[in-house]
Amino acid sequence: MKKTVQTSLIHSDYEAPGGFDAFPPGTHRASTVLFENVAAMRSMQWKDKSAYTYGLHGTPTTFTLEARLAAIEGGAHCLLAPSGLSAIAMINFAFLKSGDDVLLPENVYNPNRELGRWLAQDFGVSARFYDPMIGSGIAELIQPNTKLVWTEAPGSVSMEVPDLPAICRAAKEKGVPVALDNTWSAGLALRGFDVGADIVMHALTKYQSGGADLLMGAVITRDKALNEQLAQAHMRLGLGVGADDAYLVMRGLPTMKLRFEAHDASARQVAAWLKARPEIAKVLHPAFEDCPGHTNWKRDFHGAGGLFSVLFDARYSEEQVDRFVDALTLFGIGYSWGGPNSLVMPYRIRAIRTAWREEGVLVRFNVGLEDTADLIADIEQALTQL
Ligand SMILES: *Cc1c(COP(=O)(O)O)cnc(C)c1O
Repeated sequence: MKKTVQTSLIHSDYEAPGGFDAFPPGTHRASTVLFENVAAMRSMQWKDKSAYTYGLHGTPTTFTLEARLAAIEGGAHCLLAPSGLSAIAMINFAFLKSGDDVLLPENVYNPNRELGRWLAQDFGVSARFYDPMIGSGIAELIQPNTKLVWTEAPGSVSMEVPDLPAICRAAKEKGVPVALDNTWSAGLALRGFDVGADIVMHALTKYQSGGADLLMGAVITRDKALNEQLAQAHMRLGLGVGADDAYLVMRGLPTMKLRFEAHDASARQVAAWLKARPEIAKVLHPAFEDCPGHTNWKRDFHGAGGLFSVLFDARYSEEQVDRFVDALTLFGIGYSWGGPNSLVMPYRIRAIRTAWREEGVLVRFNVGLEDTADLIADIEQALTQL
């Protein structure tokens, strides 16, 4: 058919030769996905990932990333979401409806606590908070209407390491699925299914990205029925991710373990140095004995990454500790972790934890990939500002 200029600007006759191959996976950008013919369109299923129907329901780029992420955890299915928090929301909306009950640890990632409160206030769901160190005692909290148990290991501010096998066993006996926020471990220090979790969630924003340059989340399962329930919520909520961001996460994966180990080694040195300082009352790092649940970490985990907290001695006021934080030059004041830059964040822990008994101001460090000696020197000069 003859085409005018305007039409040929849209419909090109050129087709690149086939047979191209390279290590990086292709980046497929699409809202509309084309069908071969009407019959093919009518026979397409969005659910089982055997074909493509619409950009929102997956492209070769997102399917490839999902498969690679599932493999890290030893899972079978994975669904991407545009942020870690939207991955959390997908899980809550997949498993909770009016009249249901959800159990969340008291140290849960704060926006998930906020979501629990919203579900309780406006959606008729009961959201109850439990002591993260409860272990098998969770059995006594599980009611007939309890439909989901959240776990997080460790809590990402106060760093308690729960007894995950005990919690998962107790929930399994009552037939309640356990969701694990495994962001801290990146699926490297801990594989969620090995300790009995049914649903493993990640903020890919952290180590998987590794660049502090994007937001994304993932939900991984082994069980087909659980995945289908999640896929329903994923579809209904419209949780699509951009192809370029999905590509960037894939670009980060090959170096993730090496980065994680580098963060881990450096963070332990910084934490050990802090532990020896008179200004610091406690180092809340799962590999250190001060940390609640340290023995659980020793039993279940293989590494620690770059994130930990400290409690300043009670003689230092919030104002003094704020001065210390402001005086740091290599640590940016900001949320998140997993990128090359070190970060620091003081927390008003008593405002987010009802049962907090420790004294002293809590400061969280994310040790990045800078030289460890430089980071320690920076902390040392900032401590003089106390
Ligand atoms: C960052 C984080 C999230 C949320 O991820 P976003 O991509 O920032 O929405 C959830 N859980 C934990 C433990 C996190 O650290």
